[in-house]
Amino acid sequence: MSDLPQSVPYLVIGAGIHGLSTAWHLAMALEQQQPGKGSGVLLIDKAAPGAGATGVACGCVRNLYMTSPLHTILRHSVDVWQSDPVNFGFQQVGYVSVGEANQTSDYETMHKSQNAAGYPSDLYVGKEAKTFLQRLWPDFNTEKADCVLHERPSGYAGTHTAIAGLVQKCRQWGVDLRAGVEVSGYDMTGDQITGVVTNQGTIRADCVVICAGAWAPKHWQWLGKSPKLDLHYPDGGIAEGQDMWTFWRLLEGEVYLNGTSYRTADDKDPPVLHVELMNTPVITEDGREFPDQHFYTYVRYAAERVGAPGVQGGTIPIKLGPEAVLDPYGHANPHYQADPWFADYYCATLGYLMDRFKGCRRHFKERANGGIGAFTPDNVPIFDWVAGNAYMVADSNHGFKMIGVGKLLAQQLITGEPSPALAPFALGRYAQGRTFGDRNSNCPWV
Ligand SMILES: Cc1cc2nc3c(=O)[nH]c(=O)nc-3n(C[C@H](O)[C@H](O)[C@H](O)COP(=O)(O)OP(=O)(O)OC[C@H]3O[C@@H](n4cnc5c(N)ncnc54)[C@H](O)[C@@H]3O)c2cc1C
Repeated sequence: MSDLPQSVPYLVIGAGIHGLSTAWHLAMALEQQQPGKGSGVLLIDKAAPGAGATGVACGCVRNLYMTSPLHTILRHSVDVWQSDPVNFGFQQVGYVSVGEANQTSDYETMHKSQNAAGYPSDLYVGKEAKTFLQRLWPDFNTEKADCVLHERPSGYAGTHTAIAGLVQKCRQWGVDLRAGVEVSGYDMTGDQITGVVTNQGTIRADCVVICAGAWAPKHWQWLGKSPKLDLHYPDGGIAEGQDMWTFWRLLEGEVYLNGTSYRTADDKDPPVLHVELMNTPVITEDGREFPDQHFYTYVRYAAERVGAPGVQGGTIPIKLGPEAVLDPYGHANPHYQADPWFADYYCATLGYLMDRFKGCRRHFKERANGGIGAFTPDNVPIFDWVAGNAYMVADSNHGFKMIGVGKLLAQQLITGEPSPALAPFALGRYAQGRTFGDRNSNCPWV
């Protein structure tokens, strides 16, 4: 007989970054109202904390978005990362993104918006951009580096440390965290979820928070929602009959440093580096070119992940479409790992950027590194009510960094006051002509 509660004030589904953060912040606020109330938050996961994308993410925390309302979300998120950097494994090393001249006006827009949102960043253009890069990495190939954005509050977090830190916070504030409890559907009466059906019985909850990551489309279907929708854009354009969810698979990998120093000129852990050169091909050291790819790469120091001094990063994900086999997830799924060409491509980008990485292909760590995500119609998160008593956090698979969404959502749920920071991500944007889409990048998550 399961001892799972049959009725709770708050039921959070999914113990990834968002479910853990939401449950922690809800329980903390409830405990502060009245000791003991934190246990009114039940957090369930069909597997265990970190079983989804949160457990396999690269861990980069950046604010490089053309979608300016995300700048505020990231400011709140860095506040949370910085509230306990040791237990979350957060390294505030900064984030440096590099583009060619065609991106300068985008960088200017982002720079202005980030600073207006209280997220300090510096912009360098032309000669200043090259000087800035070589001050950090003296061997940096600045030939194509026309603009640089340096986000000072950004950085990275080791995913497993972050999960352990969040689980600890949940336990500390009394969250009832249960692994192995799988939702298989929702009992609905009108617009209300009257029962969450699980493998251990049906749970009634005053408020349900669905943080299901790549499994969000399943929950969407169980809620009886349409797999298609029309997208209305601010310029009056309409894209009819679009897929509500599209799966993409990520291409990532790790490289041992093997004696090479990946430190800045002043011997520090370097900022996370992100380079998109839309007009530049990637060519390996032995002259092979990748005809379908241009230059898009990111890299961070990742000893905690590699298991030895090493770096981790990736490139643009690959679109799969509206269907994907989700289980087993992540590294356990052989269908969704990086393609054989990826290691050559990735190491070629590193070797092009810095002399120290020339020849690094032989140090590529050959192991599974992939994972898939469910992207929204405009590739921007959806944070909104999906039933009268159910809220969905669907981050379009770029939200490991968005740990602050759980804090904002918990405040909203406890106070009943809608969060202005979450409002732009409401579902209504698609019908009301506020679909996002203003991005000049070949990557869906910029
Ligand atoms: C390879 C890879 C690299 C990435 N790198 C970065 C990065 O560097 N920076 C960044 O910001 N983002 C990154 N992302 C994206 C980021 O990892 C995700 O956006 C984020 O972790 C999603 O968190 P989540 O809590 O929504 O979902 P998840 O972490 O997927 O958690 C969802 C949980 O819900 C549970 N669940 C699902 N359905 C049910 C059910 N029916 N019943 C019970 N439980 C259920 C699952 O078991 C899972 O544990 C990356 C993603 C991948 C795949």
